[in-house]
Amino acid sequence: MHCDEYVRTGKCFDGECEYLHKPRGDEASSNGTKNALLVISCGPERTASTWLFNSIRLLFEYSKQPVDSYWIHNISQEKLESRGFKQKDSHHLLIKTHDYPNEWNVNQADLIFTTHRNIVEVAESYVRLGWLPLHLPLLISHFRRYEADHLKWRDKATLNFSFEEISSDKKTCLKKIAQKLAEKGIDCQDVVNKVYEAVEELEAPKGRSSPDPVSKLWPNHISKSNVPQKLSREDRQTLMKTFAQYQQFYGYPTEEL
Ligand SMILES: [Zn+2]
Repeated sequence: MHCDEYVRTGKCFDGECEYLHKPRGDEASSNGTKNALLVISCGPERTASTWLFNSIRLLFEYSKQPVDSYWIHNISQEKLESRGFKQKDSHHLLIKTHDYPNEWNVNQADLIFTTHRNIVEVAESYVRLGWLPLHLPLLISHFRRYEADHLKWRDKATLNFSFEEISSDKKTCLKKIAQKLAEKGIDCQDVVNKVYEAVEELEAPKGRSSPDPVSKLWPNHISKSNVPQKLSREDRQTLMKTFAQYQQFYGYPTEEL
């Protein structure tokens, strides 16, 4: 399921493209494996979910495992099978997604990794990036769907990292991911340090409005630290109360101090 545009030109500017972005004839990708895994990286937006995806992707690649990585908006059996799922001698499949699938049974995945973050900080980030206007009813209705998808993934997740722990100690998070992959037969613990460096060095593309097709890093998505808050104290308070259960579950504040 190669992206033709990428094979032809080495580029793909479609941020929603669900095809494979890997040069054709790539040696590591030509041989399959008997025990291909299906790994899902389903952190929601603004929670270091792309860091998670790239870490898993490079753990496979640096340990010389044949892996095909895809963005899929809505996972289905058909989409997976057309990408080699459950076929003899296929590649490992790593799927980056956000939404919980409508029909596909996620228990078929071998490993599911997700991430989470204080919902108020996620909202701040959305507003800062201009993804949603500073309009509370709109934010609440968006984050109700966001939360619903995340909670379903959370119940199935092998590991669930907080944005804060990834921000403060990426290497420990990587070791935990490597451990879970190792338990499934992927011997990748020796490459953790190299993968850590490689993910750190990934750069978002500049001067365009679509992500890098391989790393899925979007331009201008990195928020600067120390930017002033956009939401009012009252808005933050309302969000915390609305999502009190989520906040409480993860130990995030349920009221503004
Ligand atoms: Zn493409």
